[in-house]
Amino acid sequence: MTARSEDLSAHAPAHGSDGLRPDTVVVAGGRPAPEHDAPVGPSIVLTSTYRGSGEPRDSDRAYGRFSNPTWEDVEGVLARLECARLPALLYASGLAAIASVLSLVPAGGRLVMPRHSYQGSLQLAADLEARGLISVVTVDVADTDEVVAALDAADVLWLESPTNPMLEVADLPVLLAAARERGVLACVDNTFATPLVQRPLELGADVVVHSVTKYLAGHSDVVLGAAVTSDAALRGRLQQHRSLHGAVPGPFEAWLALRGMRTLALRVERSMASAAELARRLQEHPAVREVRYPGLPGDPGHARAAAQMDGFGSIVAVVPSGDVAAVEAAVDALRLWTPATSLGGVESLVERRRRHHEEPRTVPETLLRLSVGIENVEDLWADLDRALSGIDR
Ligand SMILES: *Cc1c(COP(=O)(O)O)cnc(C)c1O
Repeated sequence: MTARSEDLSAHAPAHGSDGLRPDTVVVAGGRPAPEHDAPVGPSIVLTSTYRGSGEPRDSDRAYGRFSNPTWEDVEGVLARLECARLPALLYASGLAAIASVLSLVPAGGRLVMPRHSYQGSLQLAADLEARGLISVVTVDVADTDEVVAALDAADVLWLESPTNPMLEVADLPVLLAAARERGVLACVDNTFATPLVQRPLELGADVVVHSVTKYLAGHSDVVLGAAVTSDAALRGRLQQHRSLHGAVPGPFEAWLALRGMRTLALRVERSMASAAELARRLQEHPAVREVRYPGLPGDPGHARAAAQMDGFGSIVAVVPSGDVAAVEAAVDALRLWTPATSLGGVESLVERRRRHHEEPRTVPETLLRLSVGIENVEDLWADLDRALSGIDR
């Protein structure tokens, strides 16, 4: 481990014209103007429409499906975190943001995406392909030559790094430059890393998407998504898609996300440090066959992750010894870890991903995805160690 994941702020660039660093932006951003007696915290603006008469202007809020001040509080903070020049766009869910971005693939166009992308992204792309709207090429995103070769006939490059749940690391600077050279629109799902750890727009991406549901909101109590870009024309198309398809968040969900983001830096620092420690210990565990975590020096993605990320994330993939039944029994024996899908909340979650029939067959049947939360790492370890030790090797 390097010192990088222990101190996010030391390496992070100052964001925005006021030079504030990201761990300050999450606290100071999205607040009311500093006037006497102004509330310190932002309001939840509940309205479906806005006053207006005469010739409508482009800047009008007009209607609740087009804009909302509470969304904008979050959108401004997200843009600063991702180093974007334009406000982010908040969506009803991560998948709604992804659907909006995939609408940028032209009719009959080609989409290139990692074979281990988020399951919903893969299903969405497959659905567009099945309806004859686009063609989809899936690639091993860790194999840079394979991805670059696929770009020649492509319109949009979809990237996820590290991937879910295999934790493969894409060479983002090289792939994003290759896409740019060929005029291929490049989008990165940055959910796993968070903008504190990886900023794809700075590495050359056109659009970044987030499942805000995960680390950004961080408390497993809200479903929300976002898209971020510095390209005004692209943002205009995404915004129009959001308005026309109605994939808009509720103001309360937006407010909850900002409330959660206040502690993003603390949560991410803590959970990354714990993930690194658990990955190290799991590697030594007699009932463990394989551990994937980019922070492990022997991990295939380690060098790339160290070069392009300010840390290694808080997701660990582990393949215990034993068959599916034995691994399921170990999951059921856990007391502190919660067996559940999703990730990025304060509480640690574990899931055998192949319990979902849609999960790619290339994911090992017994692979467990650990989303490391912010509990005491010794308690997390004691629970894991005890449950795994029950596996008959
Ligand atoms: C959860 C997730 C999504 C989908 O987001 P929702 O908010 O559940 O719609 C997309 N990408 C990744 C990497 C995710 O983990």
